[in-house]
Amino acid sequence: MIPLLDLKDLNQPMQARIEEALLRVARSGRYVLGPEVEAFEAEWAEYCGVRHCVGTANALEALEIILRCYGIGPGMEVIVPSNTYIATWLAVTHAGATPVPVEPDLVSMNLDPRRVEEAVTTRTRAIIAVHLYGRCADVTKLDHIAQRHKLLLFEDAAQAHGAMHAGRRAGALGDAAAFSFYPSKNLGALGDAGAITTDDDALARKARRLRNYGGVGRLDHTVRGINSRLDELQAAVLRAKLPDLDLLNNQRRTRAWLYTDVLRDEVETPYDEPGHVYHQYVIRTEHREALRRRLFERHGIEAHVHYPVPPHLEGAYAYLGLRRGALPVAEVLGETVLSLPVGNANFTTALANTVRDEVVALREVA
Ligand SMILES: *Cc1c(COP(=O)(O)O)cnc(C)c1O
Repeated sequence: MIPLLDLKDLNQPMQARIEEALLRVARSGRYVLGPEVEAFEAEWAEYCGVRHCVGTANALEALEIILRCYGIGPGMEVIVPSNTYIATWLAVTHAGATPVPVEPDLVSMNLDPRRVEEAVTTRTRAIIAVHLYGRCADVTKLDHIAQRHKLLLFEDAAQAHGAMHAGRRAGALGDAAAFSFYPSKNLGALGDAGAITTDDDALARKARRLRNYGGVGRLDHTVRGINSRLDELQAAVLRAKLPDLDLLNNQRRTRAWLYTDVLRDEVETPYDEPGHVYHQYVIRTEHREALRRRLFERHGIEAHVHYPVPPHLEGAYAYLGLRRGALPVAEVLGETVLSLPVGNANFTTALANTVRDEVVALREVA
C-alpha cells in the first residue's frame, strides 16, 4: 500500500525533536499564546522575509482576520480562484463580503491575470491569489492589476510553504498572506495551526487583537474579535520541524521531476517553475477515474482528487446561482486532475513507471 501521504513516516526523522518540544511545553505551564508562539512567529516571519507573523488557529481564520482588519465586509467583492479549496471562499463569506470567482489558466492552474482584470468592478476591494499545489500564482501581474485598480492583494499560501516567486518567498508577495499548518501541509503541526504574514505594522497590530477576542490584554475589547489563537504545543512542534522544510521541499521537487520525466509524453504533467514546492503533484487525464481505480486496485497506490467539486457547485454556494457550465475551466479541472504520492520517501521510479504503464494501458482500452 502506497498512501498519498504517510504522516507518521514523514515526521519520523524529526521525531526526537518533536517529542522534546512536546515535553518542553507540557512542563512549562504556558499553553496558549506564550513564548513558543512568539518564537515561532519570529522564525516564520524571518523565513518568509516579512516583518510580522501572527499565529492563528488555522488558515481559514487567518484569511478571515486579514479581510476584517482591512475593513472588507458586506457590499464588497473579493476576487478568488474558481478552482480552489472551499476555505478560500468561506473566508470571504465569513467576513460578510462576496466572493467573485475567476477562472485559472489551464496550464498553471492558478488565477489568470487577464480574467482577473475583467472581473474588477467598483465594489472590488481585494484579490486572493491561491498558490495552488505549491506553485506561486503570477503575483507580478496580479500586483500590477491591484495597483492599477487600488485593490489589496492577499495570498492564500496554505499550500506554498517555502515556495518562491521572482526571488521572494510566498508569504511576502502581497499585502498579507495566510498559512495553514494542518498536518498534511508542507510544514504541518500535530493538529490545526495557521498564521498571517505581512509587512503592514497596522495589520499585525489589529490581527493580534482580532485573534484574541478583540483585545490584547483581558479587559480592553475594542473590536468584536474571535478566538483563533495558536497554542504552544503546535508552535513548538512547528519550530522543531521548520529546519527540515527546505530539505523536504527539495525532495518533493526531485520526485516531481522524476514523475514528469516518465509521464510527460502520456498525460498533462504539471508546469514546473523554480520556486514550485509541489504540495501536490497533479496530473490531468480524461481517464482520471479509471486511472485512480486501477492504481489503487492493482497496485495499492493511493491517488486523490484536489478537488472534485469546485466551490460554485457545492451546496454552500448554491445561493450564488452559478450553475454547471458557469465556470468551465474549474469544472474541467475537477473532472481531470489527479494527485499522485509525492510527499514521502516511499516514492520510487518504479511508482512513476507503474503510473505510466497504467495510463498507456487505459488509452489502448479507450
Ligand atoms: C488547507 C487549505 C486551507 C485551509 O487551511 P486550514 O488551516 O485547514 O483552515 C485554505 N486554503 C487552501 C488552498 C488550503 O489548501
